[in-house]
Amino acid sequence: MTMAPGVLREAAVDVDAITENVRHLRALTGSEIIAVVKAAGYGHGAHRAAVAALRGGATRIGVSDIDEALALRRAGITAPLFAWLHAPGASFAEAVREEIELGISDIDQLLRAAEAAHGEQSAAVHLKIETGLSRNGIAPADWRTVFSEAARLERIGRLRVVGLFSHLSNTSEADDRAALARFEEGVVLAASVGLTPPLRHIAATNAAIALPEARLGCVRIGIGLYGISPFGDRSSADLGLRPAMTLRGAVAAVRRVPAGTGVSYGYDYRTERETMLALIPLGYADGVPRQASGRGPVSINGRRFRVAGRIAMDQFVVDVGDHPVAVGDEAVLFGDPTLGVPSARDWADAADTIDYEIVTRVGARVPRREVRA
Ligand SMILES: *Cc1c(COP(=O)(O)O)cnc(C)c1O
Repeated sequence: MTMAPGVLREAAVDVDAITENVRHLRALTGSEIIAVVKAAGYGHGAHRAAVAALRGGATRIGVSDIDEALALRRAGITAPLFAWLHAPGASFAEAVREEIELGISDIDQLLRAAEAAHGEQSAAVHLKIETGLSRNGIAPADWRTVFSEAARLERIGRLRVVGLFSHLSNTSEADDRAALARFEEGVVLAASVGLTPPLRHIAATNAAIALPEARLGCVRIGIGLYGISPFGDRSSADLGLRPAMTLRGAVAAVRRVPAGTGVSYGYDYRTERETMLALIPLGYADGVPRQASGRGPVSINGRRFRVAGRIAMDQFVVDVGDHPVAVGDEAVLFGDPTLGVPSARDWADAADTIDYEIVTRVGARVPRREVRA
């Protein structure tokens, strides 16, 4: 297949796949979906991922930080937005004005949220409780103090506590159940001081699928939106999900070379016989992990090849043997493996990482092109 003329490299994002993945996960979990579009929608584009997820029935959008939330608000997302990782000491005034719900991990953040409320407008918060991950979240020793203060601020109209939440470690089912039990203790304690928020949420994609008792009627779905499985032993297709991103480039040059030809920096690869080399215009600046040099898979004209030698900043080479490959042919690094191309997981394995990182790291230089199924 040939790439469209003039296109060097692109990440095609199938927004209908995102919509369908949300529909599928809603039906599977029977829960409200908070669609997590942090980090530029895991590389897919935050705004388009949010729009596609809302179309599929997500009711709330989750991001890591307030700047991500504000950008979505300014781009026209009117759905509830929720952000949970904050700059030390930053004012929450703009976030509250833009009706961004704040994840709150300590008393200082709680008081700053209340301060940001003005007039009729209270600050909407989700209290994050630490249940074992050792990241942020209110420490168990502080639960009573923070919950009581939140209840007081709610009574005087400064705050609305929309949710209680936490995050799981995915260490084992037993560890996740233990964290869930701690979470339930927090929920009971909160109720005892008068806090009974409408939402409780602890499951991300992994537990939303694998641990039904963690669903609690509301789940935060990140990687599943994009059609990628969070499980090492189950593929996207096993879960009924469709990968949304296809990373591809146009073969930029081909070259016939004799046996013994060195390829790319350091000549780590040498041709065994006379062969054809094809140049693929994606490199580590585009997020292609240099770690996968000599290993990463590429599909050209329905056939699978491997990177020959080192991945450079802008490009890498594949040895295509005697297979017909011409300038302009489409080289697919990863996409939906049910269509015969490599998966993000294949690249993750080649680079000793996880597929979350493979899609999220696709560089800003790669144009995203929206496609519909
Ligand atoms: C990133 C993140 C998620 C989404 O996790 P996935 O495994 O991608 O579904 C959910 N909750 C929090 C707090 C996160 O940071």
